[in-house]
Amino acid sequence: MTLVPEPFPARLLPEEVPLGTALCPRCHERPIKLAGQEVWLCIACYALEHQHPPRPGDRSRSYLPANFATPECLACGSGAVDADGRLWWCTSCRLCTRVRGEGR
Ligand SMILES: [Zn+2]
Ligand SMILES: [Zn+2]
Repeated sequence: MTLVPEPFPARLLPEEVPLGTALCPRCHERPIKLAGQEVWLCIACYALEHQHPPRPGDRSRSYLPANFATPECLACGSGAVDADGRLWWCTSCRLCTRVRGEGR
């Protein structure tokens, strides 16, 4: 057993990572739920990562104008949110948003 969570590369599909089981490699507190720019992260770390504006040189990807996948619902403020790697949703107000832009 290792104490440091092993990061899962972001290119892996949701089916290929232990969603909700493996710990986030950044905060070591919450389970991984969403693919960040390099590795799979928990919802909180994913939200933090997406607060940073994209670098000028990195134009290969299209960035969403706003990130709704946050640890607290932007619509109703509830913390009862969850994600499965492709979608993020709030169980209180049923807001649901797609978080994986590429692919289908
Ligand atoms: Zn985290
Ligand atoms: Zn909500």
